[in-house]
Amino acid sequence: VALACARTVALVGVQGHVVEVQADIASGLPAFTLVGLPDTSLYEARDRVRAAVVNSGGSWPNRRITVNLSPASLRKSGSSFDLAIAVSVLAAVEVVPAAALPAMALLGELGLDGRLRAVSGVLPAAAAAARAGLAAVVVPAANAAEARLVPELRVHGVRTLRQVVALLRGELAEDLDEAERSAEPPVDAGVGVPEKDLVDVVGQHQARWALEVSAAGGHSLFLLGTPGAGKTMLAERLPGLLPDLERDAALEVTAIHSVAGTLAPGRPLVTRPPFQGPHHTATMAAVVGGGSGLPRPGAASLAHRGVLFLDEAPEFARGVLDALRQPLESGEIVLMRSAGAARYPARFRLVMAANPCPCGRAVGKGLDCICTPLAQRRYLQRLSGPLLDRIDLRVTVRELTRADLARREAPETSATVAARVAEAQARARRRLSDTPWQLNADVPGRELRRRWPLPAPVARPLEQRLAGGAVTMRGADRALRVAWTLADLAGRDVPSLADVQAAAALRIEGGVAA
Ligand SMILES: [Zn+2]
Repeated sequence: VALACARTVALVGVQGHVVEVQADIASGLPAFTLVGLPDTSLYEARDRVRAAVVNSGGSWPNRRITVNLSPASLRKSGSSFDLAIAVSVLAAVEVVPAAALPAMALLGELGLDGRLRAVSGVLPAAAAAARAGLAAVVVPAANAAEARLVPELRVHGVRTLRQVVALLRGELAEDLDEAERSAEPPVDAGVGVPEKDLVDVVGQHQARWALEVSAAGGHSLFLLGTPGAGKTMLAERLPGLLPDLERDAALEVTAIHSVAGTLAPGRPLVTRPPFQGPHHTATMAAVVGGGSGLPRPGAASLAHRGVLFLDEAPEFARGVLDALRQPLESGEIVLMRSAGAARYPARFRLVMAANPCPCGRAVGKGLDCICTPLAQRRYLQRLSGPLLDRIDLRVTVRELTRADLARREAPETSATVAARVAEAQARARRRLSDTPWQLNADVPGRELRRRWPLPAPVARPLEQRLAGGAVTMRGADRALRVAWTLADLAGRDVPSLADVQAAAALRIEGGVAA
Protein backbone atom coordinates (compact mmCIF):
# COMPACT_ATOMS: atom_id res chain seq x y z
CA VAL A 1 0.00 0.00 0.00
CA ALA A 2 1.24 3.46 -0.95
CA LEU A 3 -0.07 6.62 0.62
CA ALA A 4 0.42 10.29 -0.18
CA CYS A 5 -1.24 13.47 0.93
CA ALA A 6 -1.66 16.79 -0.90
CA ARG A 7 -3.51 19.90 0.20
CA THR A 8 -6.03 22.20 -1.36
CA VAL A 9 -8.65 24.70 -0.17
CA ALA A 10 -12.45 24.56 -0.12
CA LEU A 11 -14.50 27.75 0.14
CA VAL A 12 -17.58 28.37 2.25
CA GLY A 13 -18.80 31.83 1.33
CA VAL A 14 -15.58 33.82 1.11
CA GLN A 15 -13.90 31.75 3.85
CA GLY A 16 -11.30 29.21 2.78
CA HIS A 17 -10.66 25.95 4.64
CA VAL A 18 -7.62 23.75 3.99
CA VAL A 19 -8.60 20.30 2.73
CA GLU A 20 -6.45 17.14 2.91
CA VAL A 21 -6.41 15.05 -0.25
CA GLN A 22 -5.14 11.57 0.55
CA ALA A 23 -4.38 9.02 -2.15
CA ASP A 24 -4.20 5.38 -1.19
CA ILE A 25 -2.97 2.85 -3.75
CA ALA A 26 -3.46 -0.83 -3.10
CA SER A 27 -3.16 -3.98 -5.15
CA GLY A 28 -6.35 -5.42 -6.52
CA LEU A 29 -8.58 -4.83 -9.47
CA PRO A 30 -7.96 -1.45 -11.14
CA ALA A 31 -10.38 1.15 -9.79
CA PHE A 32 -10.46 4.87 -9.07
CA THR A 33 -12.68 5.87 -6.17
CA LEU A 34 -13.14 9.44 -4.95
CA VAL A 35 -14.53 10.01 -1.48
CA GLY A 36 -15.65 13.30 0.00
CA LEU A 37 -17.04 15.09 -3.06
CA PRO A 38 -20.69 15.38 -4.04
CA ASP A 39 -21.69 12.82 -6.68
CA THR A 40 -21.82 14.93 -9.81
CA SER A 41 -18.50 16.74 -9.43
CA LEU A 42 -16.95 13.45 -8.33
CA TYR A 43 -17.55 11.71 -11.67
CA GLU A 44 -16.36 14.69 -13.68
CA ALA A 45 -13.22 15.18 -11.56
CA ARG A 46 -12.28 11.50 -11.92
CA ASP A 47 -12.46 11.61 -15.71
CA ARG A 48 -10.56 14.89 -15.98
CA VAL A 49 -7.79 13.82 -13.63
CA ARG A 50 -7.19 10.46 -15.29
CA ALA A 51 -7.20 11.92 -18.81
CA ALA A 52 -4.93 14.80 -17.79
CA VAL A 53 -2.33 12.44 -16.30
CA VAL A 54 -2.35 10.17 -19.33
CA ASN A 55 -2.24 13.08 -21.80
CA SER A 56 0.64 14.66 -19.91
CA GLY A 57 2.79 11.65 -20.71
CA GLY A 58 2.30 9.93 -17.38
CA SER A 59 0.96 6.45 -16.96
CA TRP A 60 -2.13 5.96 -14.86
CA PRO A 61 -1.47 3.39 -12.13
CA ASN A 62 -3.38 0.28 -13.03
CA ARG A 63 -4.25 -0.53 -9.45
CA ARG A 64 -6.86 0.13 -6.86
CA ILE A 65 -6.82 3.90 -6.14
CA THR A 66 -8.84 5.61 -3.44
CA VAL A 67 -8.64 9.39 -3.00
CA ASN A 68 -10.25 10.84 0.07
CA LEU A 69 -10.95 14.57 0.55
CA SER A 70 -11.34 15.49 4.20
CA PRO A 71 -12.88 16.82 6.35
CA ALA A 72 -15.93 15.11 4.90
CA SER A 73 -18.26 17.51 6.73
CA LEU A 74 -17.02 20.41 4.62
CA ARG A 75 -19.14 21.06 1.57
CA LYS A 76 -16.82 20.82 -1.46
CA SER A 77 -17.90 21.81 -4.91
CA GLY A 78 -16.42 23.02 -8.14
CA SER A 79 -13.46 21.83 -10.15
CA SER A 80 -10.54 23.44 -8.30
CA PHE A 81 -9.63 20.18 -6.51
CA ASP A 82 -8.45 18.46 -9.73
CA LEU A 83 -4.81 19.42 -9.38
CA ALA A 84 -4.49 18.27 -5.77
CA ILE A 85 -6.19 14.97 -6.63
CA ALA A 86 -3.84 14.34 -9.57
CA VAL A 87 -0.74 15.26 -7.57
CA SER A 88 -1.71 13.07 -4.61
CA VAL A 89 -1.99 10.07 -6.95
CA LEU A 90 1.31 10.91 -8.67
CA ALA A 91 2.97 11.23 -5.25
CA ALA A 92 1.58 7.89 -4.09
CA VAL A 93 3.23 6.17 -7.06
CA GLU A 94 6.38 8.26 -6.52
CA VAL A 95 6.28 10.14 -9.80
CA VAL A 96 6.67 13.28 -7.69
CA PRO A 97 8.26 13.45 -4.23
CA ALA A 98 5.71 13.62 -1.42
CA ALA A 99 7.97 15.50 0.98
CA ALA A 100 7.19 19.01 -0.23
CA LEU A 101 3.42 18.54 -0.41
CA PRO A 102 2.41 19.26 3.20
CA ALA A 103 3.73 22.83 2.94
CA MET A 104 1.72 23.86 -0.12
CA ALA A 105 -1.83 24.11 -1.40
CA LEU A 106 -2.63 23.07 -4.96
CA LEU A 107 -5.52 24.70 -6.81
CA GLY A 108 -6.77 24.36 -10.36
CA GLU A 109 -9.05 22.61 -12.80
CA LEU A 110 -7.42 20.18 -15.22
CA GLY A 111 -8.34 20.05 -18.87
CA LEU A 112 -8.40 16.61 -20.47
CA ASP A 113 -5.19 17.59 -22.29
CA GLY A 114 -3.40 18.31 -19.01
CA ARG A 115 -3.66 22.08 -19.24
CA LEU A 116 -4.51 23.95 -16.07
CA ARG A 117 -7.63 26.11 -16.24
CA ALA A 118 -8.33 29.21 -14.16
CA VAL A 119 -10.67 28.76 -11.22
CA SER A 120 -12.67 31.21 -9.10
CA GLY A 121 -11.97 32.04 -5.48
CA VAL A 122 -8.16 31.94 -5.66
CA LEU A 123 -7.61 35.02 -3.48
CA PRO A 124 -9.60 33.77 -0.46
CA ALA A 125 -8.17 30.27 -0.99
CA ALA A 126 -4.59 31.55 -1.03
CA ALA A 127 -5.32 33.69 2.04
CA ALA A 128 -6.63 30.61 3.86
CA ALA A 129 -3.51 28.64 2.91
CA ALA A 130 -1.29 31.38 4.32
CA ARG A 131 -3.40 31.56 7.50
CA ALA A 132 -3.02 27.79 7.94
CA GLY A 133 0.75 28.24 7.86
CA LEU A 134 1.38 26.87 4.37
CA ALA A 135 4.39 28.43 2.64
CA ALA A 136 3.32 28.17 -0.99
CA VAL A 137 0.46 27.74 -3.42
CA VAL A 138 0.44 26.26 -6.90
CA VAL A 139 -2.29 27.90 -9.01
CA PRO A 140 -3.19 28.25 -12.70
CA ALA A 141 -1.01 30.93 -14.30
CA ALA A 142 -4.12 33.01 -15.06
CA ASN A 143 -4.82 33.22 -11.29
CA ALA A 144 -1.24 33.87 -10.15
CA ALA A 145 -1.51 37.65 -9.91
CA GLU A 146 -4.57 37.27 -7.70
CA ALA A 147 -2.80 34.82 -5.35
CA ARG A 148 0.15 37.20 -5.12
CA LEU A 149 -2.06 39.73 -3.34
CA VAL A 150 -1.52 37.57 -0.24
CA PRO A 151 1.69 38.69 1.46
CA GLU A 152 4.47 36.25 2.36
CA LEU A 153 3.20 33.38 0.27
CA ARG A 154 5.22 31.78 -2.53
CA VAL A 155 3.05 31.62 -5.62
CA HIS A 156 3.76 29.26 -8.50
CA GLY A 157 1.65 30.10 -11.54
CA VAL A 158 1.59 27.01 -13.74
CA ARG A 159 0.11 26.23 -17.16
CA THR A 160 0.13 22.43 -17.35
CA LEU A 161 0.21 19.35 -15.16
CA ARG A 162 3.54 18.50 -16.78
CA GLN A 163 4.92 21.81 -15.44
CA VAL A 164 3.65 20.99 -11.95
CA VAL A 165 5.43 17.64 -12.03
CA ALA A 166 8.67 19.36 -13.09
CA LEU A 167 8.22 21.97 -10.36
CA LEU A 168 7.72 19.36 -7.64
CA ARG A 169 10.71 17.35 -8.86
CA GLY A 170 12.87 20.47 -8.78
CA GLU A 171 13.47 20.24 -12.54
CA LEU A 172 12.25 23.70 -13.50
CA ALA A 173 14.97 26.05 -14.68
CA GLU A 174 13.13 29.23 -13.69
CA ASP A 175 11.56 30.19 -10.41
CA LEU A 176 7.85 30.50 -11.19
CA ASP A 177 7.29 32.78 -8.24
CA GLU A 178 10.03 35.27 -9.10
CA ALA A 179 9.60 34.99 -12.87
CA GLU A 180 6.08 36.32 -12.86
CA ARG A 181 6.05 38.60 -9.84
CA SER A 182 5.82 41.99 -11.45
CA ALA A 183 6.92 45.18 -9.78
CA GLU A 184 4.05 47.16 -11.22
CA PRO A 185 1.21 48.05 -8.91
CA PRO A 186 -1.96 46.12 -9.75
CA VAL A 187 -4.47 47.86 -12.01
CA ASP A 188 -8.05 48.19 -10.81
CA ALA A 189 -10.11 45.24 -11.93
CA GLY A 190 -12.92 47.60 -12.97
CA VAL A 191 -15.82 45.46 -11.84
CA GLY A 192 -18.37 48.28 -11.83
CA VAL A 193 -19.63 50.35 -14.72
CA PRO A 194 -17.02 52.74 -16.08
CA GLU A 195 -17.12 55.72 -13.78
CA LYS A 196 -19.05 58.68 -15.07
CA ASP A 197 -18.62 62.32 -14.14
CA LEU A 198 -21.04 64.62 -12.33
CA VAL A 199 -20.04 67.38 -14.74
CA ASP A 200 -22.57 65.83 -17.16
CA VAL A 201 -25.46 66.47 -14.77
CA VAL A 202 -27.06 69.85 -15.40
CA GLY A 203 -29.15 71.39 -12.63
CA GLN A 204 -30.47 68.88 -10.05
CA HIS A 205 -28.92 70.76 -7.14
CA GLN A 206 -30.82 68.89 -4.47
CA ALA A 207 -30.11 65.47 -5.95
CA ARG A 208 -26.42 66.29 -6.43
CA TRP A 209 -26.27 67.41 -2.81
CA ALA A 210 -27.95 64.17 -1.66
CA LEU A 211 -25.36 62.15 -3.62
CA GLU A 212 -22.59 64.04 -1.89
CA VAL A 213 -24.13 63.42 1.55
CA SER A 214 -24.62 59.73 0.73
CA ALA A 215 -21.02 59.44 -0.44
CA ALA A 216 -19.62 61.19 2.64
CA GLY A 217 -21.62 59.38 5.32
CA GLY A 218 -22.48 56.04 3.70
CA HIS A 219 -26.19 56.86 3.72
CA SER A 220 -28.76 55.02 1.64
CA LEU A 221 -30.71 57.11 -0.83
CA PHE A 222 -34.15 57.14 -2.42
CA LEU A 223 -34.66 58.98 -5.71
CA LEU A 224 -38.25 59.69 -6.73
CA GLY A 225 -38.96 61.13 -10.17
CA THR A 226 -40.46 60.76 -13.61
CA PRO A 227 -38.88 58.43 -16.18
CA GLY A 228 -36.16 60.33 -17.98
CA ALA A 229 -35.58 62.80 -15.15
CA GLY A 230 -32.05 61.41 -14.74
CA LYS A 231 -32.27 59.08 -11.72
CA THR A 232 -30.00 56.44 -13.25
CA MET A 233 -27.60 59.10 -14.47
CA LEU A 234 -27.29 60.36 -10.89
CA ALA A 235 -26.96 56.93 -9.24
CA GLU A 236 -24.20 55.84 -11.63
CA ARG A 237 -22.16 58.84 -10.57
CA LEU A 238 -22.10 57.94 -6.88
CA PRO A 239 -19.08 55.54 -7.00
CA GLY A 240 -17.02 58.30 -8.64
CA LEU A 241 -17.49 60.45 -5.52
CA LEU A 242 -16.00 57.81 -3.23
CA PRO A 243 -12.30 57.53 -2.39
CA ASP A 244 -10.23 54.53 -3.53
CA LEU A 245 -10.73 51.45 -1.39
CA GLU A 246 -8.11 51.05 1.31
CA ARG A 247 -5.98 47.92 1.22
CA ASP A 248 -8.13 45.80 3.55
CA ALA A 249 -11.38 46.87 1.92
CA ALA A 250 -9.90 46.26 -1.55
CA LEU A 251 -8.96 42.70 -0.55
CA GLU A 252 -12.43 42.07 0.90
CA VAL A 253 -14.10 43.26 -2.29
CA THR A 254 -11.64 41.37 -4.47
CA ALA A 255 -12.26 38.13 -2.56
CA ILE A 256 -16.00 38.40 -3.29
CA HIS A 257 -15.41 39.06 -6.98
CA SER A 258 -12.86 36.26 -7.04
CA VAL A 259 -15.44 33.79 -5.75
CA ALA A 260 -17.98 35.13 -8.26
CA GLY A 261 -15.47 34.78 -11.08
CA THR A 262 -15.90 38.40 -12.18
CA LEU A 263 -12.24 39.49 -12.05
CA ALA A 264 -10.51 40.21 -15.33
CA PRO A 265 -7.34 38.13 -15.87
CA GLY A 266 -4.18 40.05 -15.04
CA ARG A 267 -6.07 42.82 -13.23
CA PRO A 268 -6.62 41.10 -9.95
CA LEU A 269 -7.29 43.87 -7.42
CA VAL A 270 -10.52 45.84 -7.12
CA THR A 271 -9.42 49.28 -5.92
CA ARG A 272 -12.50 51.33 -6.82
CA PRO A 273 -15.90 51.03 -5.09
CA PRO A 274 -18.03 48.70 -7.24
CA PHE A 275 -21.42 49.51 -8.74
CA GLN A 276 -24.17 46.93 -9.20
CA GLY A 277 -27.51 47.66 -10.83
CA PRO A 278 -29.55 44.45 -11.07
CA HIS A 279 -32.71 44.57 -13.22
CA HIS A 280 -36.04 44.48 -11.41
CA THR A 281 -36.71 40.99 -12.81
CA ALA A 282 -33.56 39.67 -11.09
CA THR A 283 -34.04 36.59 -8.93
CA MET A 284 -33.38 36.31 -5.24
CA ALA A 285 -30.16 34.38 -6.00
CA ALA A 286 -28.99 37.09 -8.40
CA VAL A 287 -29.58 39.89 -5.88
CA VAL A 288 -28.70 38.42 -2.47
CA GLY A 289 -26.80 35.29 -3.55
CA GLY A 290 -27.37 31.56 -3.47
CA GLY A 291 -28.24 29.14 -6.22
CA SER A 292 -27.76 25.42 -6.39
CA GLY A 293 -24.42 23.76 -5.60
CA LEU A 294 -21.83 26.18 -4.36
CA PRO A 295 -23.76 29.35 -3.46
CA ARG A 296 -22.65 32.35 -5.46
CA PRO A 297 -22.53 35.90 -4.15
CA GLY A 298 -25.34 38.11 -5.46
CA ALA A 299 -25.35 41.75 -6.57
CA ALA A 300 -25.67 42.92 -2.95
CA SER A 301 -22.32 41.29 -2.10
CA LEU A 302 -20.70 42.27 -5.39
CA ALA A 303 -21.64 45.85 -4.39
CA HIS A 304 -19.78 45.50 -1.06
CA ARG A 305 -18.08 48.85 -0.20
CA GLY A 306 -19.76 50.37 -3.22
CA VAL A 307 -23.23 51.09 -4.56
CA LEU A 308 -26.26 48.83 -5.04
CA PHE A 309 -28.71 50.55 -7.37
CA LEU A 310 -32.30 49.34 -7.70
CA ASP A 311 -33.95 51.18 -10.57
CA GLU A 312 -37.76 50.96 -10.59
CA ALA A 313 -37.50 49.60 -7.07
CA PRO A 314 -41.28 48.97 -6.61
CA GLU A 315 -41.11 46.49 -9.50
CA PHE A 316 -38.70 44.17 -7.65
CA ALA A 317 -40.17 41.03 -6.10
CA ARG A 318 -41.28 41.69 -2.55
CA GLY A 319 -39.13 38.84 -1.22
CA VAL A 320 -36.01 40.28 -2.85
CA LEU A 321 -36.61 43.71 -1.31
CA ASP A 322 -37.27 42.18 2.11
CA ALA A 323 -34.09 40.11 1.89
CA LEU A 324 -32.05 43.32 1.61
CA ARG A 325 -32.96 44.27 5.17
CA GLN A 326 -30.45 41.82 6.60
CA PRO A 327 -27.36 43.26 4.88
CA LEU A 328 -28.56 46.83 5.48
CA GLU A 329 -28.68 46.03 9.18
CA SER A 330 -25.63 43.80 9.62
CA GLY A 331 -23.39 44.43 6.60
CA GLU A 332 -23.38 40.79 5.57
CA ILE A 333 -25.54 38.14 3.92
CA VAL A 334 -25.81 34.77 5.59
CA LEU A 335 -27.02 31.95 3.34
CA MET A 336 -28.16 28.91 5.28
CA ARG A 337 -27.16 25.68 3.58
CA SER A 338 -27.52 22.09 4.66
CA ALA A 339 -23.78 22.01 5.31
CA GLY A 340 -23.84 25.22 7.37
CA ALA A 341 -23.93 28.96 6.86
CA ALA A 342 -22.10 30.70 4.02
CA ARG A 343 -21.33 34.32 4.81
CA TYR A 344 -20.77 37.07 2.26
CA PRO A 345 -19.87 40.63 3.22
CA ALA A 346 -22.49 43.07 1.90
CA ARG A 347 -22.04 46.61 3.21
CA PHE A 348 -23.22 48.84 0.38
CA ARG A 349 -24.87 52.17 -0.17
CA LEU A 350 -28.38 51.35 -1.33
CA VAL A 351 -29.78 53.69 -3.97
CA MET A 352 -33.40 53.03 -4.88
CA ALA A 353 -35.17 54.85 -7.67
CA ALA A 354 -38.90 54.90 -8.33
CA ASN A 355 -41.37 56.59 -10.59
CA PRO A 356 -44.07 58.49 -8.68
CA CYS A 357 -46.78 56.14 -10.03
CA PRO A 358 -47.12 53.22 -12.49
CA CYS A 359 -47.53 55.53 -15.52
CA GLY A 360 -44.74 57.76 -14.24
CA ARG A 361 -46.46 61.10 -14.80
CA ALA A 362 -47.80 61.96 -11.33
CA VAL A 363 -45.56 64.97 -10.74
CA GLY A 364 -46.44 68.51 -9.90
CA LYS A 365 -50.22 68.71 -10.12
CA GLY A 366 -50.20 65.28 -11.75
CA LEU A 367 -52.63 66.27 -14.49
CA ASP A 368 -51.13 63.89 -17.06
CA CYS A 369 -51.27 60.87 -14.78
CA ILE A 370 -53.64 58.17 -15.98
CA CYS A 371 -53.38 55.98 -12.86
CA THR A 372 -56.27 55.54 -10.46
CA PRO A 373 -55.65 56.93 -6.97
CA LEU A 374 -55.67 53.36 -5.68
CA ALA A 375 -53.05 52.19 -8.20
CA GLN A 376 -50.94 55.21 -7.32
CA ARG A 377 -51.07 54.50 -3.62
CA ARG A 378 -50.39 50.78 -4.01
CA TYR A 379 -47.41 51.38 -6.26
CA LEU A 380 -45.20 53.11 -3.73
CA GLN A 381 -46.66 51.12 -0.86
CA ARG A 382 -44.83 48.13 -2.28
CA LEU A 383 -41.73 49.79 -0.92
CA SER A 384 -43.07 51.07 2.35
CA GLY A 385 -42.24 49.60 5.70
CA PRO A 386 -39.03 48.06 6.96
CA LEU A 387 -36.91 48.65 3.86
CA LEU A 388 -37.76 52.33 3.49
CA ASP A 389 -37.24 52.57 7.21
CA ARG A 390 -33.54 52.01 6.53
CA ILE A 391 -33.19 54.77 3.96
CA ASP A 392 -31.60 57.96 5.29
CA LEU A 393 -32.05 60.34 2.37
CA ARG A 394 -34.92 61.03 0.04
CA VAL A 395 -34.90 63.34 -2.95
CA THR A 396 -37.33 64.18 -5.72
CA VAL A 397 -35.62 64.36 -9.09
CA ARG A 398 -37.39 66.76 -11.43
CA GLU A 399 -37.16 66.99 -15.17
CA LEU A 400 -35.10 69.93 -16.28
CA THR A 401 -36.97 73.05 -17.26
CA ARG A 402 -36.00 75.34 -20.11
CA ALA A 403 -34.68 77.77 -17.48
CA ASP A 404 -32.35 75.07 -16.10
CA LEU A 405 -30.97 74.40 -19.55
CA ALA A 406 -30.52 78.10 -20.32
CA ARG A 407 -28.42 78.62 -17.23
CA ARG A 408 -24.79 78.78 -18.18
CA GLU A 409 -23.06 77.90 -14.91
CA ALA A 410 -20.72 74.94 -15.30
CA PRO A 411 -21.63 72.00 -13.04
CA GLU A 412 -18.98 70.84 -10.56
CA THR A 413 -16.90 67.83 -11.56
CA SER A 414 -16.87 64.57 -9.64
CA ALA A 415 -13.28 65.28 -8.62
CA THR A 416 -14.30 68.53 -6.90
CA VAL A 417 -17.10 66.84 -4.98
CA ALA A 418 -14.95 63.77 -4.22
CA ALA A 419 -12.36 66.02 -2.56
CA ARG A 420 -15.00 67.36 -0.16
CA VAL A 421 -16.26 63.82 0.46
CA ALA A 422 -12.75 62.63 1.29
CA GLU A 423 -12.29 65.48 3.78
CA ALA A 424 -15.64 64.78 5.44
CA GLN A 425 -14.82 61.08 5.70
CA ALA A 426 -11.42 61.87 7.23
CA ARG A 427 -13.14 64.04 9.85
CA ALA A 428 -15.61 61.24 10.69
CA ARG A 429 -12.76 58.70 10.84
CA ARG A 430 -10.92 60.79 13.41
CA ARG A 431 -14.04 60.97 15.54
CA LEU A 432 -14.73 57.24 15.13
CA SER A 433 -11.08 56.18 15.39
CA ASP A 434 -11.45 54.07 18.55
CA THR A 435 -14.75 52.48 17.45
CA PRO A 436 -15.61 49.62 15.08
CA TRP A 437 -17.32 52.07 12.68
CA GLN A 438 -15.95 54.08 9.78
CA LEU A 439 -18.91 55.99 8.43
CA ASN A 440 -21.74 57.84 10.15
CA ALA A 441 -24.32 55.52 8.62
CA ASP A 442 -22.66 52.56 10.39
CA VAL A 443 -23.05 53.96 13.93
CA PRO A 444 -26.01 52.64 15.94
CA GLY A 445 -28.28 55.47 17.08
CA ARG A 446 -27.95 54.62 20.76
CA GLU A 447 -24.16 54.84 20.57
CA LEU A 448 -24.36 58.06 18.59
CA ARG A 449 -26.52 59.70 21.27
CA ARG A 450 -24.47 58.31 24.16
CA ARG A 451 -20.95 59.03 22.91
CA TRP A 452 -21.47 62.29 21.07
CA PRO A 453 -24.39 64.10 22.73
CA LEU A 454 -25.47 67.30 20.98
CA PRO A 455 -25.60 70.62 22.82
CA ALA A 456 -29.08 71.08 24.31
CA PRO A 457 -30.24 73.90 21.99
CA VAL A 458 -29.30 71.81 18.93
CA ALA A 459 -30.87 68.60 20.21
CA ARG A 460 -34.08 70.22 21.49
CA PRO A 461 -36.15 70.45 18.26
CA LEU A 462 -35.51 66.78 17.48
CA GLU A 463 -36.38 65.77 21.04
CA GLN A 464 -39.58 67.77 20.84
CA ARG A 465 -40.64 66.11 17.59
CA LEU A 466 -39.85 62.75 19.11
CA ALA A 467 -41.84 63.51 22.25
CA GLY A 468 -44.74 64.80 20.15
CA GLY A 469 -44.77 61.63 18.06
CA ALA A 470 -43.93 63.50 14.83
CA VAL A 471 -40.95 61.21 14.32
CA THR A 472 -40.06 57.70 15.48
CA MET A 473 -36.94 56.86 17.45
CA ARG A 474 -35.47 55.23 14.34
CA GLY A 475 -36.34 58.30 12.32
CA ALA A 476 -34.72 60.58 14.85
CA ASP A 477 -31.58 58.43 14.87
CA ARG A 478 -31.34 58.58 11.11
CA ALA A 479 -31.73 62.34 11.09
CA LEU A 480 -28.99 62.52 13.71
CA ARG A 481 -26.62 60.41 11.61
CA VAL A 482 -27.22 62.57 8.56
CA ALA A 483 -26.75 65.71 10.68
CA TRP A 484 -23.27 64.48 11.63
CA THR A 485 -22.45 63.95 7.96
CA LEU A 486 -23.65 67.47 7.13
CA ALA A 487 -21.40 68.78 9.90
CA ASP A 488 -18.47 66.75 8.57
CA LEU A 489 -19.01 68.15 5.08
CA ALA A 490 -19.18 71.69 6.46
CA GLY A 491 -16.04 71.16 8.56
CA ARG A 492 -17.84 71.61 11.88
CA ASP A 493 -16.91 69.61 14.98
CA VAL A 494 -20.53 69.29 16.08
CA PRO A 495 -23.78 69.55 14.08
CA SER A 496 -25.46 72.93 14.19
CA LEU A 497 -29.18 73.50 14.57
CA ALA A 498 -29.34 74.07 10.81
CA ASP A 499 -27.62 70.71 10.18
CA VAL A 500 -30.21 68.90 12.28
CA GLN A 501 -33.07 70.67 10.50
CA ALA A 502 -31.61 70.02 7.05
CA ALA A 503 -31.07 66.36 7.95
CA ALA A 504 -34.69 65.99 9.03
CA ALA A 505 -35.78 67.51 5.71
CA LEU A 506 -33.59 65.07 3.76
CA ARG A 507 -35.14 61.97 5.20
CA ILE A 508 -38.40 60.14 4.85
CA GLU A 509 -41.13 60.40 7.42
CA GLY A 510 -43.19 57.24 7.29
CA GLY A 511 -44.45 56.52 3.77
CA VAL A 512 -43.17 57.90 0.52
CA ALA A 513 -46.24 59.60 -0.92
CA ALA A 514 -45.16 63.10 -1.95
ZN1 LIG B 1 -49.65 57.73 -13.13
